[in-house]
Amino acid sequence: MRQLIAGNWKMNGTGKSLAELSDLRVALAAKPPGADVLVCLPATLISRAFASVAHEFELGGEDCHAEVSGAFTGDVSAEMLKDAGASAVIVGHSERRQYHGETDAEVAAKAKAAHRAGLLAIVCIGESQSERDSGKALEICTKQLDGSLPDGLTAANTALAYEPIWAIGTGRTPTSADIGQVHSHIRACLVRRFGEEGQGMRILYGGSLKPSNAAEILALPDVGGGLIGGASLKAADFLAIIAEAAAT
Ligand code: PEP
Repeated sequence: MRQLIAGNWKMNGTGKSLAELSDLRVALAAKPPGADVLVCLPATLISRAFASVAHEFELGGEDCHAEVSGAFTGDVSAEMLKDAGASAVIVGHSERRQYHGETDAEVAAKAKAAHRAGLLAIVCIGESQSERDSGKALEICTKQLDGSLPDGLTAANTALAYEPIWAIGTGRTPTSADIGQVHSHIRACLVRRFGEEGQGMRILYGGSLKPSNAAEILALPDVGGGLIGGASLKAADFLAIIAEAAAT
């Protein structure tokens, strides 16, 4: 399966930032990527990006509400993201879990909502620094996987993202051996629960992925792509990572 290189702009970007997406589009049109490319944007930018620049790559949301519609001021449903032009949505990002208190059960409900709307759900899991230091990384990932994934997932409608919290935005990354160990553990959990579909699901690595470390990380077994925050904001950096994915 082709790797999936997904950007996560977080709470960054206004209309001016669409110029970066325009640069991305031009470069990908000139040299079609060997990977699937997705940029998850603030909800305010999705429809503008869809109308103007998103022809060479897909667009996604960064979160969604579990319900279709209703009295949930400030929230955005999966159906709304789809309507705006998204084909995917990140759910359970550690920043949502940390700053909005999202539980595994809520993340599972959001993943279900994504599927209901016809979106790819990118479900994030990952341990904190203290959990890693106390040797609990695999245990935490297992618990989050068990609780955050609804039944009946397919390789086509779901991707996992392993994002150690301590590596996000810090410039620090786990060793290749540690990434390999967690990804193969996630694969085993997915296969146990979802059989063939679990075998085909892409498991992305996220956390300070950048041009200088992309080749090594993306070449690891069971790494099916990357979820990229900071380095997705600049087209040149994001393109450099995409090029490494294509090469694996
Ligand atoms: C992220 O926010 O999902 C992420 C991986 O961020 P960064 O690449 O900046 O560490």
